[in-house]
Amino acid sequence: MATLSARATDDALAKLAGDPACARALQWIDKSAAWSTDQQIRLTEIPAPEFAEARRGEAFKELLAASGFQVQTDKTGNVIGERPGSDAKSVILLAAHLDTVFPAGTDVRVTRDANRLRAPGIADNGVGLAALAGLAHAFAESRMQTTKTIVLAGDVGEEGEGNLRGMRALIEAYGSRLAAVIAVDGPSTDHITTQGIASRRFEASITGPGGHSWSDFGSPNPITALARGIVQFSGTSVPNDPRSSYNFGTVEGGTSVNSIPARAAVKIDLRSEDEGELSRLESSLRDAMQSGLKAELSATKSPSDSLQLSIRSLGTRPAGKLPDDSPLLATIRDVDRYLGNRSRLERSSTDANIPLSMGIPAVALGGGGRGGGSHTLDEWYDPAGRELGLKRLFLTVVSLAGVER
Ligand SMILES: [Zn+2]
Repeated sequence: MATLSARATDDALAKLAGDPACARALQWIDKSAAWSTDQQIRLTEIPAPEFAEARRGEAFKELLAASGFQVQTDKTGNVIGERPGSDAKSVILLAAHLDTVFPAGTDVRVTRDANRLRAPGIADNGVGLAALAGLAHAFAESRMQTTKTIVLAGDVGEEGEGNLRGMRALIEAYGSRLAAVIAVDGPSTDHITTQGIASRRFEASITGPGGHSWSDFGSPNPITALARGIVQFSGTSVPNDPRSSYNFGTVEGGTSVNSIPARAAVKIDLRSEDEGELSRLESSLRDAMQSGLKAELSATKSPSDSLQLSIRSLGTRPAGKLPDDSPLLATIRDVDRYLGNRSRLERSSTDANIPLSMGIPAVALGGGGRGGGSHTLDEWYDPAGRELGLKRLFLTVVSLAGVER
């Protein structure tokens, strides 16, 4: 029975792929690799730190417009391209984030060694943006009329402290018209991300009187207090199930080697598959930072008000999960079987967290090719096989959107 129905969906996909409009798009995809790689290099070489995505957004917007999409930039900074379907009330949204984790001034020029392209952001998310530009081009080649409206967006605020504000704005704008949302993030086609990991991010800062390293020796030191808190929290047990994690990502503070600092701060990322576990980690973080401060005060025998701790939220990502029997998941699995692509279900923290947390069918998929070293200066991307990623996205979108004949 399973074999029979698998054969039936294979037949349906073969029929869809053989449709003249679809075939034109797939033929273009077959020879699109060099074009896609050129666009990816061009977009990656335009810096896009958090909260400064506008220039890269403009270049991405031109690519969508060149393929006949109706483009606009919303007030959040999202670049949005629409290709209207015959039913304007139903929308398939694909989004690739424009921003990177790399600060202004990072050298983002792309270098090649053998088949590999190297640059910060080349894979995360240069490949996602190139895939959406390729999809727009493929739809232009097809000249097909879809039933549902297709929206391709380069969205802001996925990384760091962006707090998914771009995706939040897209979901608010399209609301109940959304039939499915696909976040295109990173290269790999070996997974379907159906579960959004919850995360909470904080900055813990400690301020104090400061002073001279010699004459004020014995005054409480915010860096030492923070370090005591970090060490204490590092002893917290973190379960494997539900899988959870924490990271102290940046520390800063002080002005010179011979001054007792007046301020020190650390940024922390907490993640878990389970919101309850995440709350437990948060309260243990708060306790640890407080007791680090107390330990510093008692070591220096200072009045208890001479150091102040403040913990500020930098963002919250809600958890969510696509049901196993979701038609969106079934469609992607059919496409994978048709293309001979093996994939597994995955959990991650992406733009898809927002629609998933609201019960809107959503996944995150890769754009094609291979990559590694994400969020490091050694990030790389190998475009071999990127056409598979683009076909996978195209056939998924066409299956979901429906073709008018
Ligand atoms: Zn990413």
